[in-house]
Amino acid sequence: MIKQGTVVSMTYLLKNDAGEELDRADKAEPFTYLHGAGQIVPGLEQALAGLLVGTKKTVKVAPEEGYGHLDENLRTVASKKQFPEGAELSVGMRFAADSGDGQPIVFTIVGLEGDQVALDGNHPLAGETLHFDVEIVAIRDATKEEMEHGHAHGPDGHHHH
Ligand code: ZN
Repeated sequence: MIKQGTVVSMTYLLKNDAGEELDRADKAEPFTYLHGAGQIVPGLEQALAGLLVGTKKTVKVAPEEGYGHLDENLRTVASKKQFPEGAELSVGMRFAADSGDGQPIVFTIVGLEGDQVALDGNHPLAGETLHFDVEIVAIRDATKEEMEHGHAHGPDGHHHH
């Protein structure tokens, strides 16, 4: 049964409200995570607690339990001068910047015009209601090392990272 301190392998299909596929993990390469460690969005983690191997479930996750709401304050425009000289900037490029409180924010370049660089620090899935179709493939107890690291080391616990 899925509970705190178990390592879960599962397949999933993730869609948005419009039914568009955003991400997936198939049986050939299931997604593996440490339950209770905040490795997956809170709404999904809560919905998976108590499930057994072989269970299939559809989980709907609202933005506040997923990747958060869109924050207009995280959309900003910078000058190319603020980037390292000679940096090759392109739309879609992502980089981490210090937010001032020690937590780095990942910004994506969403536009380039003249000297201006348009940036968006929202998660790409912010504001989306997430629709997961999951199937639980395997559940095992986490190793001591996994508990110390706060994440899973692959389906067999020996994955190097
Ligand atoms: Zn580790």
